[in-house]
Amino acid sequence: MRRAGAQGLNRHKFEDRLRRTLYWRLKKLGEFRIHGCQSTIYVEPLDPAISMDETVEVCRRVFGIVAISRAAVCEKDIDDICKKAGEYLAPLLNETRTFKVETRRSDKQFPMTSPQISGEVGGYLSDLFPHLKPQMDAPQVTVKVEVREEYAFVSGGVIPGAGGLPPGTSGRGMLLLSGGIDSPAAGWMMAKRGLDLGAVHFFSYPYTSMEAKQKVLDLAAVLAQWSGKLTVSVVPFTHIQNEIRSHCREDYFTLVMRRFMMRLAQEVALRQGCQCLITGESLAQVASQTVQAIHTTNAVCELPVLRPVIGMDKEEIVTIARKIGTMDISILPYEDCCTVFTPKHPQTKPTLERVMEEESKLDVEALVAEALEGVERITLG
Ligand code: ATP
Ligand code: MG
Repeated sequence: MRRAGAQGLNRHKFEDRLRRTLYWRLKKLGEFRIHGCQSTIYVEPLDPAISMDETVEVCRRVFGIVAISRAAVCEKDIDDICKKAGEYLAPLLNETRTFKVETRRSDKQFPMTSPQISGEVGGYLSDLFPHLKPQMDAPQVTVKVEVREEYAFVSGGVIPGAGGLPPGTSGRGMLLLSGGIDSPAAGWMMAKRGLDLGAVHFFSYPYTSMEAKQKVLDLAAVLAQWSGKLTVSVVPFTHIQNEIRSHCREDYFTLVMRRFMMRLAQEVALRQGCQCLITGESLAQVASQTVQAIHTTNAVCELPVLRPVIGMDKEEIVTIARKIGTMDISILPYEDCCTVFTPKHPQTKPTLERVMEEESKLDVEALVAEALEGVERITLG
């Protein structure tokens, strides 16, 4: 499979990270030999019982991989190469009109040159599939033959990889993960750019149910298929919400609550070595996501807050959620703590001063410390 370009990053570190990621992710399927050379990583199952469909499904979710090809191993013998190409690629070539053959030969002892091998395999395939037309320029399928030291292999057809940068090559971010559509998509987008993820979820039992918590863990499990192991820190949020409701003006409930979320997320992030926070905020989607509202919640953060879906419409976010497999879980009907005490007329143009005035009615430090004491950590993936 082809890895992404490593602009500005150390290429060896980049490839090493990809190989290690593949090793850990594929471990559950069995033993593989994973090695790389010149922008290509080879993943070979060491046990014939390993399902290659499942292997591709895992590889398809590893960021940093641009394209994936499945290949059949052949004897280092031109007759076997031709025969395997015909058998292995038959389903693909039956659906194809134009093709060409490309050969790479790293074993220079092999008695034929690369153009000779390509010519031989191309001729064999043309005879076997008379509907196929050789075409050097932009053919539908490029059949690839590689002759290596130990064996040869043939491949054809390319499966798109996840793109982006390998996990962890950009640092580590703490995702504020709710049960909604937006935050899983936001986490996926930043994981794609090479961030390792941690997640924090604010849980308001019994205002929100155990099913609502399970839904968040189910979302985290899907996200973990892309990001790798994901630890969710579940922060008890009920006492804070009750205090806000008892002491603050109703139209400021959500903003004061969101400032608590950002503070707590930042504390959890710092404890877990994260360099940034990630939210699923989208400009003006709800009252707490106007620029003025974001100003008041951003003011409690020292770490940078990444908001990758800030400029996206809901449909665009939904497209991502469907593609990554979180959508069906996100639309399950369990409530989120944000919806528990939603004010009838929330402030959409708050000033920082007024929000801080409301907040000053609470013992912020003690409430934050108490919530942090009760954090429960659950690891998925
Ligand atoms: P989402 O679809 O991600 O729930 P939303 O449109 O419902 O987003 P809000 O509820 O205002 O928007 O939340 C904005 C962001 O705050 C979310 O994207 C998420 O990052 C964070 N957030 C909201 N509720 C929680 C929660 N209970 N736990 C952790 N983070 C939360
Ligand atoms: Mg929400």
